Amino acid sequence: MNLSWQLGDTKITRIEELIGPLFDPVRFFPDFHKDLIKKHQDWLLPNHLDMTSGRIIASMHSWLVETPHHKILIDGCIGNDKDRNPYRDWHQMQTNWPAKLQYAGVSPAEIDYVLCTHLHVDHVGWNTQLIDGSWQPTFPRARYVFSKVELAQLEQSLQNLDDSDQFALVNKKTYYDSIAPILGQTDLVVESHDLISDRLSIQLTPGHTAGSITLSVASEGEGARFCGDICHHPLQAYEPWMNSAYCELPNEAIDARRTLLETCAEDNLLLMPAHFGPSHAAYVDRRGDAFSLRWC
Ligand SMILES: [Zn+2]
Repeated sequence: MNLSWQLGDTKITRIEELIGPLFDPVRFFPDFHKDLIKKHQDWLLPNHLDMTSGRIIASMHSWLVETPHHKILIDGCIGNDKDRNPYRDWHQMQTNWPAKLQYAGVSPAEIDYVLCTHLHVDHVGWNTQLIDGSWQPTFPRARYVFSKVELAQLEQSLQNLDDSDQFALVNKKTYYDSIAPILGQTDLVVESHDLISDRLSIQLTPGHTAGSITLSVASEGEGARFCGDICHHPLQAYEPWMNSAYCELPNEAIDARRTLLETCAEDNLLLMPAHFGPSHAAYVDRRGDAFSLRWC
């Protein structure tokens, strides 16, 4: 079943691809310390930490935003049929993500915009699907929107690829099957701006990657902020100094996270990240020099 939120006249629906105890926190957060589990266990369990395995719970989902005039998809998860070796769990994956989108009442041809907060493997997969042996845009009339810097950096990295770097190798495959096929219907973001006037704005938010963007939705006095991987896990709201192993610009990533959380707290914006466990979205409160979450 899909979960939905109503903000004014705008409906936001979570389209789940997968969820579970996906990551070892020691590997995922280079500065993780097991004392953090004791410190935060009152809210970590059971939705954000699996006690049996000790792994952090992560969700892979897209956000479907429906305004009275537009249908927008934010982040395309991992996708089906894709060669993701050596990432065995994501290799040739088969999920019913398309059926969940359909269950939300929206067909791929109705999507106006596909917004990619960044171009990592778990944010662009459903940009394309395999049809008759070739990768075709899943959303035939959508404009795909992401950062020009992000694309340039990825294309540059393909020139100097270190094959022993598994993450770089997977992102190279991702470029060819999930990004190159949609470049003919892409609008590249070069500065923060309104994509839909008074409704949906794009902010350059470098840190997790050099070209990360975040998205603000406003509707009848209510608002939400889609932050991609600026916060991977709710622990990073309570401990905003803690980067993931995948944050490319560590100092900027911490600054971007603090600024994001401060803005959500001050402006009462619903924080809607790409990977939080249930209930997947939260309001933010200040808590000393860190923050706490009110799940919504
Ligand atoms: Zn991600």
